[in-house]
Amino acid sequence: MTDQREDQDIQREKGAATRQRKWEKRQEQKRLMALKQKEEDRQKRREDERFMREALRQAKKAAALGDVPIGCVIVRQGRIISRGYNRRNADKNVLSHAEMISIKKACKIQGDWRLEDCAMYVTLEPCPMCAGAIVQARIPRVVIGVLNPKAGCAGSVLDLFHEKGFNHQVQVDTGILEEECASLLQEFFQDLRKRKSGAAAPV
Ligand SMILES: [Zn+2]
Repeated sequence: MTDQREDQDIQREKGAATRQRKWEKRQEQKRLMALKQKEEDRQKRREDERFMREALRQAKKAAALGDVPIGCVIVRQGRIISRGYNRRNADKNVLSHAEMISIKKACKIQGDWRLEDCAMYVTLEPCPMCAGAIVQARIPRVVIGVLNPKAGCAGSVLDLFHEKGFNHQVQVDTGILEEECASLLQEFFQDLRKRKSGAAAPV
């Protein structure tokens, strides 16, 4: 083998080793980025669950009054600024949904009808009225516990949050503490049925 060919071989090996090192470095960077993303997702999930737990606490207040247990909180910069629970029966008012009450309180606190830097956490998918109010208030993110196939307007019956014709779109996250939110409603309706059948039975 001539000296020239030997030099070429050495150069080729060096090149391959460099490429290998660069590839390994890129893989390591990718792995670290994925880990960081995973940790961020975990933290976000924990925070979402923390706020949904407070919405659940609100929902229980509705149940205690005999109203369908739906609760809601509005969060701004990692802090709850308003809370609400369904009081439709208690107030004898169709506007007294958990979301409407908390939007009203949040607007009062903010001194503005716009809630552009807030997120809403609600145990049940919003109805058309509340979804409309969320769009009107320009709330950018809504986190939902359980979907409502009979009246939900975050995609179940209608999707008012991703309506291209509107000038505001809402980011929606679903399924946060889904089981707790669903079982609270199930238990409420089971109790209601029991009470009704108990009342109808001869004493
Ligand atoms: Zn509603």
